[in-house]
Amino acid sequence: MNIHEYQAKELFEKFGVATPKGKVASTAAEAGAAARELGGEGLVVKAQIHAGGRGKGTFKNGFKGGVHVINTAAEAEDIAGKMLGQTLVTHQTGPDGKLVSKVLVAKSVDIAKEYYFAILLDRANSRHSIIASTEGGVNIEEVAEKTPEKIIKEGIHPTLGLQAYQCRKVAAALGLRGALMNQAVKLFTALYNLFIKVDCSMVEVNPLAITTDNQLVALDAKFNFDDNALYRQKDVVAMRDKTEEDPREVAASEYNLNYIGLDGNIACLVNGAGLAMATMDIIKFSGGDPANFLDVGGGASKEQVTAAFKIILGDPNVKGILVNIFGGIMDCNIIATGIIAAAQETSLSIPLVVRLEGNNVVAGKKTLADSGLAITSADDLADAAKKIVAAVAAA
Ligand code: GDP
Ligand code: MG
Repeated sequence: MNIHEYQAKELFEKFGVATPKGKVASTAAEAGAAARELGGEGLVVKAQIHAGGRGKGTFKNGFKGGVHVINTAAEAEDIAGKMLGQTLVTHQTGPDGKLVSKVLVAKSVDIAKEYYFAILLDRANSRHSIIASTEGGVNIEEVAEKTPEKIIKEGIHPTLGLQAYQCRKVAAALGLRGALMNQAVKLFTALYNLFIKVDCSMVEVNPLAITTDNQLVALDAKFNFDDNALYRQKDVVAMRDKTEEDPREVAASEYNLNYIGLDGNIACLVNGAGLAMATMDIIKFSGGDPANFLDVGGGASKEQVTAAFKIILGDPNVKGILVNIFGGIMDCNIIATGIIAAAQETSLSIPLVVRLEGNNVVAGKKTLADSGLAITSADDLADAAKKIVAAVAAA
């Protein structure tokens, strides 16, 4: 799960991470009022989307830049009006861009130097790590590729946590001395506490900036949360903005389905993540392209199967469906009943291949055959994949 920058700011304030004051606005008038409240001058207006690269982004209406420094409330209102309701395209949004429905109005600072600072789960050394660089404000992937020596990495011990000496070490490597080193230790420690307390998997501050009056402040923030810990992070869940997420994935999560949309045209409905991956592989191997990953779980109900069909059919690219169910805990006949109900309820008109195996499979296959629906039965995984690829090619 991700959050917006204005929400990240709220977390920063709560945990004592230095960041300029800001207010969120949903209309141009609100942006003007926010600007007046913040003093009316020396402010920045920033489009709120779940993607970075806004500064260098372009709106589909031609307006350039999702980050603007402004000096009057009227200007804030004008800029916000040009951003709100418009689609911003950045190198992280893809060509479709993202609709801007909120802007952040914040105190602008005069930047002397920009740094990059992040805490994330580093799978390579199985621990949380700090990633920092003197090359801030720019695309960090590019820095890592072209000048890897400019990336500072510091692993954090899982039980000891981030130590003060490690903060000083990173600060020194960034060239921060004296008062700035002290500010850095304070900021890094606060950020680490925040990271742990709210179960983040990544916090990225780009840029972490030194102002012309020698203050170290977080100017931008990107958060990722560990989805498996959300059950104990009610305040974080409350910040979820479903309009930023793939609507198919939002619908799937409401029915406890594990769904990830893909680019192909053969939808898969499978129980078990391993089987789902094997099914996607074998579709590819047979010359097709999967439209999604969909795991209905070990004990899927008829309602879940119907919901899964609806989500699948909501994707206009889907030209055929492959159901691959292994009845271990599940009864194949219940699944067959669910498939028929779903096919009828959704007036299914595209090829459907079903491979059932396991518990009560004979009854399940009979139920499918007796339904009178145009459902193709398959005996094993390879057979199922060949049949659906052929059916989609012929359609
Ligand atoms: P991103 O492009 O989506 O990563 O958005 P950022 O918040 O990082 O803003 C992009 C760039 O705008 C930053 O790298 C800064 O150079 C600039 N910027 C952001 N906030 C301020 C500010 O308060 N004052 C000034 N002068 N520039 C800012
Ligand atoms: Mg940034």
